[in-house]
Amino acid sequence: MFLRVVPWVLFAIYVVVLGSVENARAGDEIVVYSARNEHLIKPLFDAYTAETGIEIKYITDKAGPLLQRLKAEGADTPADLFIAVDAGNLWQAAEEGLLSTVDSTLLNVNVPAHLRDPDDRWFGLSVRARTIVYNPTKVRPADLSSYEALAEDQWVGRVCLRTSKKEYNQSLVAMMIADLGEAATEKVVRGWIKNLATDVFTSDTTMMESIAAGQCDVGIGNTYYFGRIMLDNPKTPLALFWPNQKDRGVHVNISGAGIARYAKHPEEAQRFLEWLSSIKAQNLFADGNLEYPVNPSVEPHPIVASWGDFKESMINVSQAGELQSDAVRLMDRAGYA
Ligand code: FE
Repeated sequence: MFLRVVPWVLFAIYVVVLGSVENARAGDEIVVYSARNEHLIKPLFDAYTAETGIEIKYITDKAGPLLQRLKAEGADTPADLFIAVDAGNLWQAAEEGLLSTVDSTLLNVNVPAHLRDPDDRWFGLSVRARTIVYNPTKVRPADLSSYEALAEDQWVGRVCLRTSKKEYNQSLVAMMIADLGEAATEKVVRGWIKNLATDVFTSDTTMMESIAAGQCDVGIGNTYYFGRIMLDNPKTPLALFWPNQKDRGVHVNISGAGIARYAKHPEEAQRFLEWLSSIKAQNLFADGNLEYPVNPSVEPHPIVASWGDFKESMINVSQAGELQSDAVRLMDRAGYA
């Protein structure tokens, strides 16, 4: 009798215990690996938890180490969602089979087609415009026209650039290759290097500070760094220029996300990703870093809106990944450190 009862008791305990573990796993948490800074994403996690009760666990690091970690963990990874701050990194994650395909009408409506993976493995959540920054005491807007024109002789000794090691510049050059072809792009990059006023910078901020200080007159940077500097000191002699308005438009990149291939909570992760692209979350996502919402129904922060409207490049940002290694080799050949 005893021997016949015990297995049933054990089975009942097994069902109860495992059942509750399954429930907790199914509904109560999402695990995020994020290359977007903690101070920018934590408010979104908190807002989502407040709204849904779902806890969000996360680690933040640079995209490279996070991708290495995802790869090493394989099917055992706890990660549900990967967040990056550059289209090239998202493309890389998808290329290495680390992301799964997401079939979502909401994401397709909320995220314009050129700002998401053509194969639905990652989606832009904010837009980062990389544009021309100049010192208005030394340059007239009429002197400016395109990224390409910064290679012309009138800019000898007047250009500042951030290092080619930064993925933002690799993506910029990759997107130029997509539009102009490799030979024309190389000519432009060689021209930029010929025109440099000084060594390349390790950050957009120090580059822009050098432009303001008069070490050089013009450079290329992300608008949110400009925004931070101007918030700190509105009298800083810096201004934005929107290049290439008669052709492909301003180079844009994205901060975005994809669902990990071996996610343990793929449905919860998808609902969270959809929520991030929604009207109610988009300002919280973009405004904290003075970026542009990806959802066309959402207005940017008033400070960002004050920089004016511009035409952006409509080339799919996946090209930043496809052509990234070509871009890196090209910049190397051109002597861009
Ligand atoms: Fe940045």
